[in-house]
Amino acid sequence: MAATQFQTPRIREYPTIPVLVRGAMAHSQPFVAKPDHQEPLGFPGELVDNWKEVALKRMGELLGKYRSLQVFLDICVKCGSCTDKCHYFQGTADPKNMPVARQDLLRKVYRRYFTLAGKYFPKLVGAVDLTEEVLWDWYKYYHQCSQCRRCSVYCPYGIDTAEITMAGREILASVGIGQKYSNEIIGKVYKIGNNLGLPRPALLDTLEGLEEEVEEETGVKVRFPLDVKGAEVLLVTPSADFFAEPHVDGLIGYGKVFHQAGISWTLSSHASEAGNFGLFIGNYENMQKVAMRVREAALDLGVKRIVVGECGHAWRVAYSFWNTLIGPFDFLDPAYPVPQHICEFTHDLLLKGMIKLDPSENDDKVVTFHDSCNVARASRMGDMPGGQFVIPRELIKASCNHFVDMAPETINDQTFCCGGGGGVLTDDLIEIRVKGALPRMEALKQVVEQDGVTHMAAICAICKSQFTKVLPYFDLGMDMIVSVHQLISEAIVLEGSEQEEAPSTSDTQS
Ligand code: SF4
Ligand code: SF4
Repeated sequence: MAATQFQTPRIREYPTIPVLVRGAMAHSQPFVAKPDHQEPLGFPGELVDNWKEVALKRMGELLGKYRSLQVFLDICVKCGSCTDKCHYFQGTADPKNMPVARQDLLRKVYRRYFTLAGKYFPKLVGAVDLTEEVLWDWYKYYHQCSQCRRCSVYCPYGIDTAEITMAGREILASVGIGQKYSNEIIGKVYKIGNNLGLPRPALLDTLEGLEEEVEEETGVKVRFPLDVKGAEVLLVTPSADFFAEPHVDGLIGYGKVFHQAGISWTLSSHASEAGNFGLFIGNYENMQKVAMRVREAALDLGVKRIVVGECGHAWRVAYSFWNTLIGPFDFLDPAYPVPQHICEFTHDLLLKGMIKLDPSENDDKVVTFHDSCNVARASRMGDMPGGQFVIPRELIKASCNHFVDMAPETINDQTFCCGGGGGVLTDDLIEIRVKGALPRMEALKQVVEQDGVTHMAAICAICKSQFTKVLPYFDLGMDMIVSVHQLISEAIVLEGSEQEEAPSTSDTQS
């Protein structure tokens, strides 16, 4: 069970390699999924009697299907380059949170059953039997990895621990040990359409409320349309954007950008979620089923373009997987990229002079930017290498006069995870979330103290939720974290004219 009492790690003056504390996080594990959370996803409800046979069969299938997995398990030379690169290791000092040790949990079993040397000389090659103890070690430590891929940047062979973590979770779910948090959320998407379980009437209510709020504040009638057939753009965004600050301020920003550019757009109640937790559980069938709702909505609404809101892992799924999971997109306008990130979309409008920003509106802020792992290390943005680093920063600089980057070894492709990604953003894992946030909090504190930074912007719903929760543990205000489109929302120069009415409204979906 998850611990409720723990010590927040101390901010270090200089980053140092922690002294190992064996078993420091051996007590940490997320709640196990109940049959109600497992079965709708196609997994057994509880641990099956022949779990060992099923687990090894599934491992064999994954090794056959994903050659990269077998290569990653074979080629590690134990050089040690990755050992201190994981935020969870830095925050917990538990040696099993070293990326190479995390990989070894699966590697040792792989060697025992899938290599000749491991079958005949297990001790010589560090191979171990698959026991129930090993299975639960997987469950604990594969849920202390946010699949952030930072370690792979430093590995001379590019070994991707995230893929090994995903395989570990997939095998666990297939024997009946799934994670409650992720699997329950996927079930909500199937039943209702989004991670938060917001039904269409609640969405409509929220969007109408936003229209009133923006009109009251600006005197301009900005629309937040839902299920509008014939709109040019379908915006798919994380459901957190409908719900709470700072996410909803980002949604207001998207609405103002569409309004000012005069581009018709719509949200969809069928695809009211950009997030895709199928990625986190490492199961491509579920990832495809969640993603398919976007294709269905785009076809039904007859849009020409799909734009993805601020969400790190959603962008990874869209950018790196949509084409194979739910393509081809031959029904969309070929003049635009598929998919397109909202930052790319807004940046393009800015370059074309279709929107104007007044950065003095954010003069009360000194802003820094947190690169979200899935955007930084698992995707790209725009048509230039490194666009995922440049474009959000260009937008912030156009919206604010005061921008400061954090230390170079903590940004861009070396960015540190917020500590809550990859299916870890649940209260039963709060200890690992707080401890894993340490390196990012250290880098943030440095610019707060040296440069007077007041706000940290991000383009990921999970980062924003995680920071809201963990900033106070480090004596920083939870409202420091803002959406990039929240800054744009403050700075955008709105003209008073009403946005043109979209062609027709469908009230038939539920
Ligand atoms: S992928 Fe990220 S969380 Fe996982 S082991 Fe590597 S650095 Fe740690
Ligand atoms: S950096 Fe790569 S090769 Fe070196 S120990 Fe880590 S995973 Fe193995």
